[in-house]
Amino acid sequence: MAERGSHQSSDAEWARLRGQLRAEFGEAAFRIWFKPLTLKAVREGKVSISVPTRFMRDWVISHYADRIRTLWHELNSSIHSVEIFVESRSRPAEPARAAGPAAPAPRAAQDAAAAGGDQQGKVGAPLDPRFTFENFVVGKPNEFAYAAARRVAESTKVRFNPLFLYGGVGLGKTHLMHAIAWHIRKQHPGRRVIYLSAEKFMYQFIRAIRFKDTMAFKEQFRSIDVLMIDDVQFISGKESTEEEFFHTFNALVDQNRQVVISADKSPSDLEGLEERLRSRLGWGLVADLHPTTYELRLGILQSKAEQLQVEVPPKVMEFLAHKITANVRELEGALNRIAAHSTLVGRDITLETTQEVLHDLLRANDRRVTIEEIQKRVAVHFNIRLADMHSARRARAVARPRQVAMYLAKQLTPRSLPEIGRKFGGRDHTTVMHAVRRIEELMAGDSSFSEDVDLLRRMLES
Ligand code: ADP
Ligand code: MG
Repeated sequence: MAERGSHQSSDAEWARLRGQLRAEFGEAAFRIWFKPLTLKAVREGKVSISVPTRFMRDWVISHYADRIRTLWHELNSSIHSVEIFVESRSRPAEPARAAGPAAPAPRAAQDAAAAGGDQQGKVGAPLDPRFTFENFVVGKPNEFAYAAARRVAESTKVRFNPLFLYGGVGLGKTHLMHAIAWHIRKQHPGRRVIYLSAEKFMYQFIRAIRFKDTMAFKEQFRSIDVLMIDDVQFISGKESTEEEFFHTFNALVDQNRQVVISADKSPSDLEGLEERLRSRLGWGLVADLHPTTYELRLGILQSKAEQLQVEVPPKVMEFLAHKITANVRELEGALNRIAAHSTLVGRDITLETTQEVLHDLLRANDRRVTIEEIQKRVAVHFNIRLADMHSARRARAVARPRQVAMYLAKQLTPRSLPEIGRKFGGRDHTTVMHAVRRIEELMAGDSSFSEDVDLLRRMLES
């Protein structure tokens, strides 16, 4: 450990300064760039800070050293310079002057490689230890996606590029991607795997633009064997990020590196994405995760109950698998809740306690009417064409039923006014609001109309 002028005060100053950096540059930047810094010495007006890699040294020098010096000078006017140097466990320290020009980082890739798993920590996002292949329950709806993910994890040759996984919320996309990363990490510790969300990718890229350092950004991705980007639907519409994503993607594919992508829709259905990117994403293998079946849900419940080591009667499992159908995360949440409740009150899990503990969740899952169903029902009821729900026709004979359908959509679904408007031929939300008010007025003044609408509502709810 290097010597210090006044040990305690410089440590306190350093702690304060880190707090300021965190507030100024944000949590993510703090984690990536400032947390790995270590204060080594304060001597004769000079602060010495070590970083673990050259890449980080160059980056911190070119982006933050001036700021660190200014802030430190404000805290302690005797400080006039800041030195940042590399100190890794295997390599001797290499000092570099903060004042000097930022050297290009030709060896950044090698440094990143030397850092091994660290690379994931800096560029990527942390992996959930529960999201492994062993913990993934396979059934008809997800067997193809599972097999494709396993193939990517097990083979060192690139067979299809990219692997594009898509499916609705909570069906296991993130789980499979983490499982790929865990598997490779265990079997081939030398291969470099990066998993990150599209949002994080965007965030890093936008920062790089702001600091005019897209070179370093690209550098980070150059030495990767497998790149996984989750939820790319969040990239769509942000042109510059889309462009950069496209280039990063192409560069990796050209070098025969594996890319894995997930989204909530198939490549061709991704809206707002440039056509060439959309079609490029579909070139490899596209595997979708279908909505779960009753059997799969039951299997997942059994597996989770075993992991939690709780005794759940088959009747309760069947009940849950029947009732909670939309997404696996919710199903898991339900199981966790009844397990927690049973330990807390010290009673066995039964059908009655399950219904009691989960009554809010069960009600929400009870019946989800869609706007499409409402439109169909209402059209049949008033004997108009379904197309008139979307059409611009304003004749009373179609306009009134359309208003009824909008009113019921507002009452029976969680959709917002603009969302409802969109489903009715792209109408404005004020039109929907007007329809809801109009129907309420009519119902208040006309009992037979009111009965009509109530009848429709009951049919839809049942
Ligand atoms: P997505 O990314 O598709 O929204 P996740 O991968 O986050 O969904 O899955 C949501 C939750 O459901 C996670 O806790 C995950 O472990 C669990 N899950 C989803 N599918 C399965 C499965 N087939 N077997 C076990 N757990 C699953
Ligand atoms: Mg996900």
